[in-house]
Amino acid sequence: MEKLAVFGGKPVRDTKIFYGHQCIDEDDIKAVADVLRSDYVTCGPNVTEMEKKLAEYCEAKYAVSMANGTAALHCACIAAGIKEGDEVITTPLTFAASANCVLYVGAKPVFADVDPETYNIDPESIRKNITDKTKAVIAVDYTGQCVENKKIREICDEYNLVFIEDAAHAIGSVYDGKKVGSLADMTCFSFHPVKTITCGEGGAVTTNSEEYYKKLVLAHTHGITHDESLMEEAPHEGPWYYEQISLGFNYRLTDFQAALLTSQLKKLDTFKAKRKAIVKKYDSAFSEIPELIVQKMFPHISSRTINI
Ligand SMILES: *Cc1c(COP(=O)(O)O)cnc(C)c1O
Repeated sequence: MEKLAVFGGKPVRDTKIFYGHQCIDEDDIKAVADVLRSDYVTCGPNVTEMEKKLAEYCEAKYAVSMANGTAALHCACIAAGIKEGDEVITTPLTFAASANCVLYVGAKPVFADVDPETYNIDPESIRKNITDKTKAVIAVDYTGQCVENKKIREICDEYNLVFIEDAAHAIGSVYDGKKVGSLADMTCFSFHPVKTITCGEGGAVTTNSEEYYKKLVLAHTHGITHDESLMEEAPHEGPWYYEQISLGFNYRLTDFQAALLTSQLKKLDTFKAKRKAIVKKYDSAFSEIPELIVQKMFPHISSRTINI
């Protein structure tokens, strides 16, 4: 074999292949520029619009935008009521944030095994790791292929656990005809540039539960609310009146990022198709190499797009 480029050999190409690269068109740039000329730069009408469009796309009742995917996971843990003394079962085959979010709320991440064919968390291993301290499962749709939602749902229902899906790789993926974002109790997305659609840094949580939705909204904006129904007493003194009712964070998304994301969302299906074509090329090239195991795709959960 020739000397590898890292050891001083001749590189096989002159230009660098980046780890990931965003696709930003002129219409994305225009969407951002329009907001920069408007009255809002932080939370404004584009954030509301983006949340509506994202919820619609994911076939979920609610979407809450977040500053990034890690913040989405953190707020999902807060909304799930995970706290010190609790355990959360997750996968070791993921980005650090899937387990770090458990530590942020003072709980303990417990790692289950992964399935060697799908690389996703093995539902039987989740079962084996359940103790009386287990509060939730955080399952990651590795490379966009959905986790075994049906089996995980059954386990979570049986043991009264909150099912959080880390879908940072999986926006637009489908499981048994249902969109990711409508399946778990809460689904977390990331819009970092290596993911399928981007707004620089950004994230979101989708849910069908009004209770989780309200908690997510609170957690991502300081724990402060204008919603009278959430206040202990409501001595309403005008529209400016607000209360801090829990400890929250500033995890909001800006209005121009939201506009970029709404623009990117329109292209999501095209982006996914392009990624899938690349996956096919890699799979066929790698299938000839005995040392490499190509990730197996299952038809009812197949939306693999290698978008880490
Ligand atoms: C990217 C990623 C995250 C974190 O998202 P950020 O937007 O970078 O904070 C979380 N989980 C997984 C599986 C990811 O790939």
